[in-house]
This record gives sequence, C-alpha cells and structure tokens, in this order.
Amino acid sequence: MPPTGDDRPHFFDQTPESLAALFTGWGLARFRADQVMDWVYRKGIADPHAMTNLSQADRERLADRLRFLDVGVVQHQRATDGTQKLLIDWSLGPTRYSAPGEASLAVLGSSATQSECVMIPATSSGRAAPDRTRTRRTACISSQVGCPVGCRFCASGLGGLDGNLTPGQIVQQVWQLQQLPGVERITNVVFMGMGEPLANPRSVFAALRTLAAPWGIGLSARKITVSTVGVPAGIRKLGDLDLPVTLAISLHAPNDEIRKAIIPWAEFVSIEQLTEAGRDYFRKTGREITLEYILLGGFNDQPHHAQELARVAKRLRSNLNLIRYNEVAGLPFTRPSDDDVLSFQQVLRTAGLNVHIRASRGRDIAAACGQLRHEASGV
Ligand code: SF4
Repeated sequence: MPPTGDDRPHFFDQTPESLAALFTGWGLARFRADQVMDWVYRKGIADPHAMTNLSQADRERLADRLRFLDVGVVQHQRATDGTQKLLIDWSLGPTRYSAPGEASLAVLGSSATQSECVMIPATSSGRAAPDRTRTRRTACISSQVGCPVGCRFCASGLGGLDGNLTPGQIVQQVWQLQQLPGVERITNVVFMGMGEPLANPRSVFAALRTLAAPWGIGLSARKITVSTVGVPAGIRKLGDLDLPVTLAISLHAPNDEIRKAIIPWAEFVSIEQLTEAGRDYFRKTGREITLEYILLGGFNDQPHHAQELARVAKRLRSNLNLIRYNEVAGLPFTRPSDDDVLSFQQVLRTAGLNVHIRASRGRDIAAACGQLRHEASGV
C-alpha cells in the first residue's frame, strides 16, 4: 500500500547503503545517512527539521525529498492490563496520538487504508506486567490491510484484502509502538496482526532485515515470530533468508476436514504439506516450530480433537500455543470454557508435548486481530 500521490522514496524502506546512495545522488555527504539513521532508530526522531546536527539547508532538502512517517493514528486504546492498540490510517500522514488513558481520537479515513498494531507488555512468566516490572514488550504488527485468507472466526478477513503494506509501513508500526509513553523499547515482534505475512513476502522479508539489523530496530531474529496460516513455498523461502526467526503455523484444526471449515486456504494446502514445510524449516534453521491453535468453544476444543492434534504435532519438532477465542460481533464462534481449555491442554501434555495457553490480553479494547478496525468501521 504505497502512499498515494507521493512517489518520493521512503526513509523506512531504506538500508544504510541505499540511503547513502540517495544522499550522494542529492549532493549530501555520505556520512549524513548514518546520522539520519541514528536520529530515527536510536534517538526516536523521525522529523528531519529536528535533526540538529544537520545544516538547515540539509534538513530542508531531506524534508523535501524523503518521506519519513506515514503513521496516521486514528485510535489509540489502552487496556487495563497495559496492552495498547493503535489503529493506523496510512492515507493521513503522521498524527499525534492522545496520551494513554485519554479518549481516542475521532475515526477518520476509511477502513480500506487502515491497519492495526498492538503493544503487549508481559513479565517473563507471561503474565501481564504492572508498570514497574515490565520485562517484555511485544509488538503485534500487521503485514497487510485486510486479509486475503478469510478465516471464518477472524475480523480481519471479513472484508477481504485491501492492500499490501510496504516494508517501511511494517517497520513503522514497531517504531511507532516504541514511541508510546512508557514503552521505551520493543523487545519482541510477532506478525500476528492483520494479513497473511507470506502473501506479502517481499515487504515482509525486507522488513525482517530492518527489524533484525543493528542499524535498524536491532532485535534478535529469535525474538521475531512470523505467523502463517500456511504457504509452503513461502515457508521455504523464509528458511532461506539466513535470519533464524521463529515460524508459527496457524493450524487451528486437528485434521483437514475441520481446517477447511474455518480456513478457506486449507482447500489448497493440506496439514501434511504444512508439516513437511515445517520440517524443512527446522532442518534449515534449527528453530523449533510453534503450532498455533485457536480454541473455538464446542467446535475444535474437545479431548478427541486434542488427541488428533497430538499426532500431528509429533510429526515435527514443535511446541503448541493454545489461544482462547475472543468473540467477534457478527461471527458465530464462542469462547471455550476454562474446563475445556485445561482438559485440552492436559491431553497434549500427557502425550509429551510442550504446550502453553496463551494469555488473553487487552480483551477490554477489542485486541483480537482486526477487531478494532472492524468495530470502528463496520468492516
Ligand atoms: Fe487472515 Fe490471520 Fe485473520 Fe486468517 S486469522 S483471516 S490469516 S488475519
């Protein structure tokens, strides 16, 4: 989703080398590129007018020739557990968002140019962190506007795909979450917001390099998780990147029949093909695969489902994440009961699997994928 009517290069799409090439082409000294990288990624300043070690003329030239920030924040919500969520409109340009706890800004623009990102604080135990003891701050980011997959339980897929985000737009979500008061530094990134990351591989792979680069966001690749509903060719390309990110496969069903009922793309890719791609990923990267399984009340959350899932999970080196469904208005699925969730986990543990129940975060701010955009616009 490139900015409309503005074909200037974008800062957040650049590497130090490509930025230096642009600068020398514009008659700016090469070392200015390193200074600008430092301002943006180390000092958190993305306004060229505020880059005080550049001459006034260079600041003007940069502001004229380079785009810096597209993030128009149209809603900023903060949950009681510290989770913060931004609804971003990429057509509006940079917007100052309200301080946490203040009322959200009015919703502007259209859902066709809006995506979401979330900052989730947690202690190392995975619990919600009171302000002073936060040790982990995870950015959950989007790779597309809308989603082409259309999972039956998900708000993001309701209106289909509106566009791919650019590498810079993906990186900007992390950068912007880092600017939220009290956040300071994002420690982990998960591609679990809107969109199917491996359906936008060029942008996602370029963004991964910036997220993991010492000159960029500077995260360890191991702290980045790419979550896919299952694109075997994309999984193999991800494994070739030489960036050992964590691969999460959204399985959500113990067999192909149930999977096809909730994930339209399961018509094209079987669980066997997915596990084979996962095994290849492990061979290339040495990284254990995370299998994501959303528990839908009364649908896929019974002990016999868990037994079948255990047989699938044992086909590859994996650990399991169980996710309690957050209800979405207008969709037919319900949240599973606590008893069913614990029984499901117990069956998997008895089978010898490493399984966690992911804590539900930000329930009071519609933090499920695509839910804020859905509620704001009706899409
Ligand atoms: Fe797309 Fe993920 Fe939602 Fe499925 S769950 S529709 S893949 S965003």
